[in-house]
Amino acid sequence: MVNFSTTQKIQPDFKRIVAFGILTAVLFVFSIPNSLEGHAQDPRRVLVLNSYNYSFQWTASITRGIEETLLEADPSIKIMVEFMDTKSHVTPEYYKNLEEQFHIKYSHVKFDAVITSDDNAVNFALKYRDDLFKGAPIIFCGVNNHNLPANSNFTNMAGILEAPDIAGSFNAALRLDPNLKTIYIVTDETTTGKSVRADAERIIIQFKDRVRLVWLQGLSMEELQDKLASLPKQSAVMLMTFTRDRLGQAFSYNEALGHICTACTRPVYGLFDFYLGNGIVGGMLISGKYQGIMAAELAIRVMDGENPDTIPVILQKSNRYMFDFTEMDRFGYALNKLPSESIVINIPESVYTRYKFEIAGVTGLILFLSIIIITLITNNRARRRAESELEELNRDQETLIDQRTEELTQRSQELEIANYELKKLGELKTAVLNTVSHDLRTPLTSVLGFCKIIDRDFKRFFLPLCRGAEELEGMGRRISSNLSIIENEGERLTRLINDFLDLSKIESGNIAWNNVSLDPAELITQCVPVLEGYFSDSGVSLKIDIKTDLPKIVADPDRLLQVLNNLVGNAAKFTDEGKVTVTADTTEGGWLRIEVSDTGVGIPTDEVDRIFEKFYQVCQDESATEISRGSGMGLAISKRIVEHYGGQITANSTPGQGSSFIFTIPFAK
Ligand code: ADP
Repeated sequence: MVNFSTTQKIQPDFKRIVAFGILTAVLFVFSIPNSLEGHAQDPRRVLVLNSYNYSFQWTASITRGIEETLLEADPSIKIMVEFMDTKSHVTPEYYKNLEEQFHIKYSHVKFDAVITSDDNAVNFALKYRDDLFKGAPIIFCGVNNHNLPANSNFTNMAGILEAPDIAGSFNAALRLDPNLKTIYIVTDETTTGKSVRADAERIIIQFKDRVRLVWLQGLSMEELQDKLASLPKQSAVMLMTFTRDRLGQAFSYNEALGHICTACTRPVYGLFDFYLGNGIVGGMLISGKYQGIMAAELAIRVMDGENPDTIPVILQKSNRYMFDFTEMDRFGYALNKLPSESIVINIPESVYTRYKFEIAGVTGLILFLSIIIITLITNNRARRRAESELEELNRDQETLIDQRTEELTQRSQELEIANYELKKLGELKTAVLNTVSHDLRTPLTSVLGFCKIIDRDFKRFFLPLCRGAEELEGMGRRISSNLSIIENEGERLTRLINDFLDLSKIESGNIAWNNVSLDPAELITQCVPVLEGYFSDSGVSLKIDIKTDLPKIVADPDRLLQVLNNLVGNAAKFTDEGKVTVTADTTEGGWLRIEVSDTGVGIPTDEVDRIFEKFYQVCQDESATEISRGSGMGLAISKRIVEHYGGQITANSTPGQGSSFIFTIPFAK
């Protein structure tokens, strides 16, 4: 399993910055009490003394590693950075000048640690440690002189030696391309170049069975370029160090690398991370940044109280497998061939990595919209289903309504026909009744008239003749009694016919209403003798109680008297003892109110409402007299007359105690 960590030389590692930010914030919070005390307790001071200039990538990486690590551990730490620039200036005067300069700058400063990068800085620090840095512990990194720990001054010191892992870089090359047949090793004729070769010879001997090793040394840059331009396939180049060619031409690391990579057609491997990103595939590289990180970590341990002399000098631990994806890709090397924990730069950001927030947002939006669309589709379907069900229901309803309408139209037509026929029948009935009644009444009047004459003559002339002859006298009386019966029945028949005629005339609208302005009191008073006639043979008294000064009414007097006669007649018929009272006064609403009350038999409660119906007669018991038999039309006619004038007629009755009939007529305006 190969783990890669991607670093960009130009763009800082985002995660590290975030982590650093969070850590800084946390440390800031926890350091508040310390900060408050800080006025009393000085912050720790560290001097970073670099042998070279910041423009030298190696030095810049070391410095960044130191600063980031120190600040991460202690944000309040004061870091002072110096670049001795001893690649450009090497004269004793320059060193003297530096010493004076630092004396001015730092003689009053007490450093908790001095971190040096590369050999010149550590040598300078050792030399002036007591004068300039007041015996501060020295933490070194990037030191090529592996004999440094043997120095007699090597006390109160800890650090990291710069030791290239040559075997690691050869392994990396063979791992990426196992078919490599030749590795060309480039180095120069400088002291460093020679020493590197001497070291390398001992180490790479282990690869001689796997690959042919060819040294390209002691060449001018041009000669080197010519060689590199014509290298065979299945070969690679290992760049050790090249700062001066055979002709004495000096090159910076990157200048040399530029010339080499321009000419070389095969992959170039190296030993230092400052070559990475400038044309080498990679290798087990000495990392300036990790040198710096490790030096800073040692400085923190020492500042926290650990004795530096007990910390062993570190060798090679800062080296890392580091590769450039651009170069790997150029030679078709796959990432999965790399050793685990390799650091790979220039891995192209995948579209997903680059736009992960946008992609997440758009995906979320698409999901959200999909849910909405699905919901809408489901709703739409449900709505359409409901609509079609509703349409079907509507169609059924319409069909049903059409059917019902047709049936109703048919029924209505049938009813119209029936109504028409009924009307015709009613007209026919009225015509028949009129004719029959009229035709009956005329001979009946004659029969009654002659009957009365016969009875009168018989009683006057014949009955006296029978006096003395007992049998004849008895027969005479019986004839006279029979004549009376014929008279009574004839009169009853006449009343019946009259009632029939009145009712049918009122219902058919053929009655004549001879309305005149009337004084109600006067009308009733005139009629009193007639009313008294009903009580001539009975022990019942008639009481008339009429309020004077009643306003006038407009009505047909005959019809009003017909109503009054009927009510008083009924009262007389159904009252055996006590009294019948007729009162006339005004209602609260300003109407004429006439009441006829009696102390008679009364009307059964459940029949009171029905007595105004045509032909309705209350069930009479066997004790009903002959006179109580009526037509059942009197109250129906009275109701129609009263209602014709806009009034009302009502009845109240208590069986066994009596009844009272009230009708109202509006006064004239
Ligand atoms: P009728 O010609 O039979 O009297 P009405 O229409 O005048 O017809 O009366 C209907 C019925 O109402 C009567 O048959 C009678 O039974 C009852 N009725 C009317 N007035 C009285 C009353 N004052 N006392 C008791 N019963 C009455």
